[in-house]
Amino acid sequence: MTESVQRTRVCGECSLCCTVLRVDELRKLGGTPCLHQRSGGGCTIHARRPGICRSYECLWLSGSLGADDRPDRLGAVVDLVNEGGSVKLVIRQARPGALEASTRLQEIAATYRISMPVRINDVDAVLDEDRRFRVLMPDGVEHHVEGEWMTIHHPDGRAERRRMPWLERWALRTAHAWKRRRFRRMQSLGPKRV
Ligand code: SF4
Ligand code: SF4
Repeated sequence: MTESVQRTRVCGECSLCCTVLRVDELRKLGGTPCLHQRSGGGCTIHARRPGICRSYECLWLSGSLGADDRPDRLGAVVDLVNEGGSVKLVIRQARPGALEASTRLQEIAATYRISMPVRINDVDAVLDEDRRFRVLMPDGVEHHVEGEWMTIHHPDGRAERRRMPWLERWALRTAHAWKRRRFRRMQSLGPKRV
């Protein structure tokens, strides 16, 4: 998405984040290709692209992954995300099963998991409130979240299913209500051309 005079890496033929990520300025939902994506990589409105597109750098572009780990080759956009003061690695799969299909993505997840949680998101069904995601915790535990329910998979094979505490459920419902409102508006207006 971005360019820098100091950076040695350029996006080249990759434009995976232009499909995977949400761009509010363009009313573009996550998981849908941007109207302005150029086939073979690049942006048809490069000089006028929104601020988020100018500032965004995936982990590969910032130089923190190996040279061959460009997202279009991995099948996922990989990022470090700070949520409430806690940093996690987020793997946004371009299609379900991308992590299982790529030994390199699995290696990256295992390396980061030593020091921080690793969240794996799909980009399909972005409007589904119960859309599932997984979090691989440093202690070997895996959290599978679906709506208000979480299944905790322990390294010894045990699994426990729990409903989230009421405060988290309330926060989730509030976030979903806000998200629904925003998505309804984006859908009714349609994608914005720049
Ligand atoms: S995913 Fe990374 S490398 Fe690919 S276009 Fe976006 S910023 Fe560039
Ligand atoms: S405006 Fe350009 S850089 Fe931004 S998401 Fe669309 S194609 Fe990508």
